[in-house]
Amino acid sequence: MDSLLTMYITLVCVSGVFNVFLSIYAFSKRREIPGAGTFMAYTSALAIYCFGYAFCLASDTIREVKLWTTVEYVGMPFSAALGLMIVLNYLGRKVSGRTAAVMLVIPAITLLMVATNDYHHLFYKSMELREGLPAPLVKIEIGEWYIVHGIYTFSCLLAAVVLLIGRWRQTSRTYRLQLTVMLCGQFIPMVAAFLYLLGIAPGGLDPVPIVMCVTSSLFIWAIVSTKMLTVVPIAKETIFESMGEGVIVLDPAERLIDFNRAAAAMIPSLHLSLIGKTLDEVWTMMTGSPFPAARQPQGMKEEIVWTADNGCRCYEVRSSVVRHRNGEQAGSLLMLIDVTELKRLQRDLEHMAYYDGLTQIYNRTHFIHLARELLKESRTGGHPFSVVLFDIDYFKQINDSFGHETGDRVIVHVVSVCKRILGENTLFGRYGGEEFVIALPFASLDEAAGLAERLRAALEAEPLITADGEVAVTSSFGAAQAAEPGRDTLESLLHAADEALYLSKRGGRNRVSVCNPAVRRRDR
Ligand code: GH3
Ligand code: MG
Ligand code: MG
Repeated sequence: MDSLLTMYITLVCVSGVFNVFLSIYAFSKRREIPGAGTFMAYTSALAIYCFGYAFCLASDTIREVKLWTTVEYVGMPFSAALGLMIVLNYLGRKVSGRTAAVMLVIPAITLLMVATNDYHHLFYKSMELREGLPAPLVKIEIGEWYIVHGIYTFSCLLAAVVLLIGRWRQTSRTYRLQLTVMLCGQFIPMVAAFLYLLGIAPGGLDPVPIVMCVTSSLFIWAIVSTKMLTVVPIAKETIFESMGEGVIVLDPAERLIDFNRAAAAMIPSLHLSLIGKTLDEVWTMMTGSPFPAARQPQGMKEEIVWTADNGCRCYEVRSSVVRHRNGEQAGSLLMLIDVTELKRLQRDLEHMAYYDGLTQIYNRTHFIHLARELLKESRTGGHPFSVVLFDIDYFKQINDSFGHETGDRVIVHVVSVCKRILGENTLFGRYGGEEFVIALPFASLDEAAGLAERLRAALEAEPLITADGEVAVTSSFGAAQAAEPGRDTLESLLHAADEALYLSKRGGRNRVSVCNPAVRRRDR
């Protein structure tokens, strides 16, 4: 055998060994490598291709050549399609099982054609041994399916190369080395296959298995030095599309350029046909008015409320300027964050901080805060200010006789009767368990006592109706008026009202007592 042929066979075998190594490596790290199965299939196909070709070159009879050519085609036609799948995976485009199966149909037919060629001659019209050194050892005349196979293989390689080149600009410097290796892995075999198809490969031998020596070594080096298979960049479009926040991209003239899936889900009428229109036009078409948030300044934050099928949603809109590398403005980004739940929680928390959970009137703390403000105003305005404090009579007995739940219902009943008389605007709060407080700006002591009397009478007249019968409810009241401006604090006033309430309790309950300001002044 010629020494050039021997060297050729040796190099082809080295390529085969490299691919066996890559396949075993991918198998051993299959948990860390995304798409390890495809990579294993790809490198196994290449290894079979190389070894099949090596045996083919070493064959002496046409029968042996045909046998090893069939073995070679168990790998070769599949490798191009699998290579394209790896590139697609690498670029973040998931290849489904169905797509993969479709991509492997032509390679499978090719294998069948080669294995059964003697019966139809659709792959090789003729195939005969030829003397000549160093090669070709086999003279072939190509058939129809050979052309289909050639076009398909070349197309897969070309598609992979085009996709990888297309990704170059978006790939950060860190990942460019990986991308270069991926590109070489497709581009070098593509050029070699092209030269072979044109018949200008040196010695008429298939140069692809030889150049694979180079591409496979590059792969091994890239795996070791850049963790090529385990750490892959995630495509920026994939990130854009997977973001939970809605993103709307505008050009410097505020025309809609792009939006992601989340934005389309948040605002279903945001449709691709609107691209190119200004944001105000788009918004006017959708809502009848221009976009509500002013968008100029970087980092602006505003809220918009949007009503869609899923109810009323609240979005926080944040804007940021997008710049070219040279600093020139390229457009702007509007980021929509769904804050509906946050707003609801915030509202609930505020409500809990200000209102009593059982009766939904002000709690003690918030009542005091508001009443203090009103007292201050009455001081500056020089008008009277009174408070009424009242406590349900014998409430412990109600709890004991009817149960705690009915006790709660009594409290709610008392509040609802009082609210009906007081109206919505009167400052009314739950002071303690079954004790309530009312602030009455502009009311004199007599007026406050008169109001308290009306409340007392209403409560007495309206028992709570329950399934077990009527629950009679009475309350004892104490009223007090602030002394001349500046003399009373809210605390001292409430203390005075409490004293009056105590008088009512001591006097037999279900009554109104007042704390006379004149008497209080004398007491001091
Ligand atoms: P008095 O006429 O002297 O006011 O007698 P009383 O039985 O009402 O006595 P007191 O005011 O000391 O008792 C208040 C009771 O109210 C004690 C407590 O168990 C009950 N209570 C306080 N808050 C609640 C509540 O939210 N629900 C119910 N069911 N009971 C409460
Ligand atoms: Mg009581
Ligand atoms: Mg009490």
